Amino acid sequence: MSHKKLSYDWVCHACKAENSKQAQQCQVCGYAAFASMQSIKNHESQQRKAEFQLSREQTVQVLFWVVTGIIVLLFKFALMLWI
Ligand SMILES: [Zn+2]
Repeated sequence: MSHKKLSYDWVCHACKAENSKQAQQCQVCGYAAFASMQSIKNHESQQRKAEFQLSREQTVQVLFWVVTGIIVLLFKFALMLWI
């Protein structure tokens, strides 16, 4: 465990929040002040993955409502033709 002290205020690599020099971790997201470049990259790719999954869920939801709407419209037309 590193107990280095920074002599200046610093900006979080992950969320860009400003932190005091006494803080060992980001006060907003808990990200370590002395993170290596590799762990920063991991953090970023995890965030990107989460965004991708979210947009895929949204796409599935939109497709579901479009298909449901088409089916409802087809039923209405079918009923109008029968009557
Ligand atoms: Zn942060």
